[in-house]
Amino acid sequence: MDISLVAESPFRFRIERRAPMRVPGVVFATADLLPRAASGEALEQVANVATLPGVVRASYAMPDVHWGYGFPIGGVAATDVEDGGVVSPGGVGFDISCGVRLLAADIDRAGLEPRLRKLMDILGDTIPRGMGRGGLWKLSGRAEMEKLLVGGAGYAVEHGHGVPSDLTFCEDEGALEDADPSQVGARAVERGLQQVGSLGSGNHFLEVQAVDRVYDERTASAFGLRPGRICVMIHCGSRGLGHQVCTDHVRVMDRTLDRYGISLPDRQLACAPVESPEGRAYLGAMSAAANYGRANRQLLTQAVRRAFATAAGVGVDLVYDVSHNMAKIETHRVDGARRRLCVHRKGATLALPPGDPSLPEELAEAGQPVLVPGTMGTASYVLVGEKGNDAFHSACHGAGRVWSRHQALREVRGEALRDDLESKGIAVRPSSWRGLAEETPEAYKDVDAVAGATEGAGLARLVARLVPVGVVKG
Ligand code: 5GP
Ligand code: MN
Ligand code: MN
Repeated sequence: MDISLVAESPFRFRIERRAPMRVPGVVFATADLLPRAASGEALEQVANVATLPGVVRASYAMPDVHWGYGFPIGGVAATDVEDGGVVSPGGVGFDISCGVRLLAADIDRAGLEPRLRKLMDILGDTIPRGMGRGGLWKLSGRAEMEKLLVGGAGYAVEHGHGVPSDLTFCEDEGALEDADPSQVGARAVERGLQQVGSLGSGNHFLEVQAVDRVYDERTASAFGLRPGRICVMIHCGSRGLGHQVCTDHVRVMDRTLDRYGISLPDRQLACAPVESPEGRAYLGAMSAAANYGRANRQLLTQAVRRAFATAAGVGVDLVYDVSHNMAKIETHRVDGARRRLCVHRKGATLALPPGDPSLPEELAEAGQPVLVPGTMGTASYVLVGEKGNDAFHSACHGAGRVWSRHQALREVRGEALRDDLESKGIAVRPSSWRGLAEETPEAYKDVDAVAGATEGAGLARLVARLVPVGVVKG
């Protein structure tokens, strides 16, 4: 399909609806970001998503959009549950509830400086990552796993891995309610038993950062952010368990497409009506895997707290935890009526504006933090949800890839990259040279431009910019 874009504003482009699309596509970007967005057929995927049964309003792409399995990464689409709307595992992604958690330590950059090396050594030694190594919390078997799949971060906190106030600053207070562990297969459980409290590989990381710039003092201060403050950004998901859940349910839905009379431009969009046995089974399993992802980040938070206590004798607070690979049942006003929608956000986060009724009291006035990692060599951002976001309150989740992992490996050597980062004052604790090279900052779009476009498009507002001080790579 040949995709042409119509500029609606400097930050918003439309893909005109044409059969078999049911709604138009909307791409949030700037003219400068667009050529990069267009690479890898991501825009074709935006148009493909617009063909899904029950899809409403538009198929959206965030400014960090790039090619993914079925849906693009940076893709957002909602389907009407009451009107045959479908749920598609490809609209969530294999790493269910992959997300970002931001912590803030009781120390500033200058104060940490003499202790940074020690801190990075402890983090490098104690954060499980890469292939093969087990997580921080080994579960005894399926019975214990089922409790974690229901309780999410709360189950971890109940077992001493954190403090109750942590849950206030987690999306959904750390657990989705409709988790159904009986829909998580034996293989998925087996893969997950040994991995709670582990980063995983490649794109996942734990980064010590410093607040470099504040754009909105009031909101930044509500989030606990001030210039110079040391933060830690954790990016990881639901490990082998989530991956297996996706694999298992895609297989089932692929076989049931004919039964539901669904025809798709791309089989990777395999889906089933939300209100079908297959749809409900997937959503129950997905929520369970999402809760696993939240518990995983909770365990890593505790490891960070121990490291800061030992290296610097200071405490660490949770700023926020947000998932960027999820489908959620939400109510939104569409064409004048309130409707129950299944909102897919894949490589996109929720971005609730100030005053939204689903925010906890502590964030009601400020709005929901939107966490946007950049790269280990550039900046990362904190934004806040903004009113008037017609993409179902969604925002970008990162800078977004422009190079494939293969291309990054062709262009960059891990050792040279480490030397380059260290020479810029960024401590690096890699898990493998290959993994490091794949994540070279050049492999990503310009995060300053992506964050700027996200604000320009009215999706979220800039609050603070963070710069890397040390990175533990998965
Ligand atoms: P994804 O979930 O799509 O794998 O990654 C989310 C985003 O994380 C990427 O788009 C990229 O911008 C960002 N990212 C990847 N590696 C790093 C890193 O080491 N440090 C930081 N700050 N961001 C990263
Ligand atoms: Mn992930
Ligand atoms: Mn992710």
